[in-house]
Amino acid sequence: MINPWSSSQYFDYEKLIKEFGIEKPDDYFDYFMFRRKLIFGQRGLDYLEYAIKNKMKFNAMTGLMPSGHMHLGNKLTIDQIIYFQSLGAEVYIAVADLESYATRGISFERAREIAINEYIVNYISMGLKPCKIYFQSENFDTQSLAFILSNGTNMNELKAIYGLNDSSSMLHVNSPIIQAADVLHTQMRHLGGPRPTVVPVGVDQDPHIRLMRDLAKRLRIYSVKSDHGKISVFIKGTESPEKYIDNAMEELSASSYECTPNYEYRAIYIKNSKEEERIKIDMILANLEGGFNEYAFVEPSATFQKLETGLKGGKMSSSVPDSLISLNDSPADATKKIKHAVTGGKQTVEEQRKLGGNPDICPVFELYKYHSNDDKYVTRVYEECIGGVRMCGQCKSEAGENISKFLKNLSEKKDESFRKIDDYLIKRSS
Ligand code: SF4
Repeated sequence: MINPWSSSQYFDYEKLIKEFGIEKPDDYFDYFMFRRKLIFGQRGLDYLEYAIKNKMKFNAMTGLMPSGHMHLGNKLTIDQIIYFQSLGAEVYIAVADLESYATRGISFERAREIAINEYIVNYISMGLKPCKIYFQSENFDTQSLAFILSNGTNMNELKAIYGLNDSSSMLHVNSPIIQAADVLHTQMRHLGGPRPTVVPVGVDQDPHIRLMRDLAKRLRIYSVKSDHGKISVFIKGTESPEKYIDNAMEELSASSYECTPNYEYRAIYIKNSKEEERIKIDMILANLEGGFNEYAFVEPSATFQKLETGLKGGKMSSSVPDSLISLNDSPADATKKIKHAVTGGKQTVEEQRKLGGNPDICPVFELYKYHSNDDKYVTRVYEECIGGVRMCGQCKSEAGENISKFLKNLSEKKDESFRKIDDYLIKRSS
């Protein structure tokens, strides 16, 4: 079972793909995290591709837990968000201050300070353009939607997904529903209506993603199914289906689909459709449905990124400060931590020259692989390591210089980023 609340770090990514129905991304997205398989899996990313190819609006969504410091491992999600924003995504970021209050006793006021000083200012310095950042505790849309969504699931389902039992905290019941509301509310009518929405996550968050995708489907009236390329539309609910069928047929016919209604079975059969048109048909109907159903959501998409290894070889953890590089670390501190990192190198320089190192198990190599955009440079480091040309001491110094340059740049931009903050925070909803 994948558990979003466990602290385990290691995943067999191939096994996850096989056992949990996570799919591999295709090569549509030309971005280093896709090219280097740092994004190893996805769900529903074809919706995003469809939106981009057809110049449709789409969202990218993430959240932040306002506690501790932002570190290099958290940076990867924001790198992706900035990438999707560069492709045209409207970006939403939820500050999970309800969750930090419930789990860590952090007051809303303190959570606000942490979110701005430790996270949002860094996001802006990293290149995030103006977007919509909100606090869960102030967002009535997400709170009311969570209430609606809670009617779409039950304890049996949550027990099956999360392994909850009768003595589980209600927080573990509420938290996935609030997260689903965070993601899905971005498609509410006053925010632009149904849109493909991508959520970059670590694989430990997959149970939340599966639940929110199912909840989105359950709130739809039109359900589009494909059976070996034959596409049918079903009308859910107990209301008489006539008007829904007639309206859908009108929209689909306007896009040249030949439709046959079956009022008794609450269905429309589409004759001249192919499997690849399922998304187009779903989007036509989602947009139609958005006109009369406030909760007509397109199933959100997700990318799953690998977790960066801590400098001590295990998980990056704030309880082991030397395992991670905080974005508030001085270049000197970061360099020192890298100097003391474990590596995939050999015991002696002679052995390293003779046999080469093992970058595949080296957290120092991950600093290059996860944080440099330059494919040729990263390949060169890899080849020099396995070829025994590169020694660990020199390699650590070089990685330290790269990370120091990044940290210095962030710190130089800090004041300017603070001044821009109002372009990012959305006002309290009432
Ligand atoms: S040379 Fe660099 S990449 Fe290779 S094992 Fe040593 S530290 Fe890691």
